[in-house]
Amino acid sequence: MRPFTYVRAEDAATAITLRSQHLNARFLGGGTNLVDLMRENIEQPDALVDVTGLPLQEIRELADGGISIGAAVKNTTLATHRLIRERYPLLSQAIVCGASGQIRNMATVAGNMMQRTRCCYFYDATANCNKRLPGSGCDAIDGFSRMHAILGASEHCIATHPSDMCVALAALDATVHVDGTGGARTIPFGLFHRLPGDTPHLETALEPGELITSVQISPLAVAANSIYRKVRDRSSYAFALVSVAAAVATSDGVMTDVRIALGGVAHRPWRALEAERVLRGGPVDDGAFGRAADAELAAARATKDNGFKLELAKRTIVSVLRELTEHGSVR
Ligand code: SF4
Repeated sequence: MRPFTYVRAEDAATAITLRSQHLNARFLGGGTNLVDLMRENIEQPDALVDVTGLPLQEIRELADGGISIGAAVKNTTLATHRLIRERYPLLSQAIVCGASGQIRNMATVAGNMMQRTRCCYFYDATANCNKRLPGSGCDAIDGFSRMHAILGASEHCIATHPSDMCVALAALDATVHVDGTGGARTIPFGLFHRLPGDTPHLETALEPGELITSVQISPLAVAANSIYRKVRDRSSYAFALVSVAAAVATSDGVMTDVRIALGGVAHRPWRALEAERVLRGGPVDDGAFGRAADAELAAARATKDNGFKLELAKRTIVSVLRELTEHGSVR
């Protein structure tokens, strides 16, 4: 690990100023991914601005019934909060599916959003990786790619985003609040993470030095009937092969509202808008669920190792929708 400067900020304005004073600084939250990357010399910041003491630790109900989640809220705190468990069970379930209890106790909401891919070539300094070193190539494309993307990938990168929490937030159409030297602004969650294109090293819509301050979720009745299901190689402490976050409302055998997002399949949490379009206003049965999954996955492209993800994604979508609708009308 290279030497770096450590500073601790007590408020957001100070954190943003301190970061702007260094060429290659990073904000430090729980450190559960960043410190690993620094140990491997994948990340080599010249300064860490510790933001764990910032007053961004509140989960607050808004006047319109939505929820504001401070960026420094710990993953465990968010997953176990009464309002989240009652109104947005898919979010609580997604967080509990991630990492381990110890890591969830340390990791923050913003850190979860900013975590980087677990592509093994990204972590191997001897491998070619356009994300780690732009222009160097991508050893995953002709290498071992069982965990890699089937949607939205490019010839420059086929990595997946590792977060479970972010898949649920994508389904919920959350809004990300950020602050920086250019002022405060909001970013729709669906635009926060980028597809790789020809710049896979650029992973989010954040401008240099911007700080995530909170995430807001609108009041969303459909979210009360929701599920997050993660399919993985072992039952704990493993990243998703495929995951599905879904919320549905039905009435008299008709799908009246539906939200679906997929994890483990793309460079960002993948909102399944095509599947939603097929389902909305249609019948509530396995045939419709299968057609929706097929529509979403029509654009999928497998590597030599991960063709199984297409069938796995379809079966998981159908299974989740069946479970959410098996007791008749849900509004
Ligand atoms: Fe790097 Fe992306 Fe290729 Fe993995 S898939 S080696 S992260 S460029």
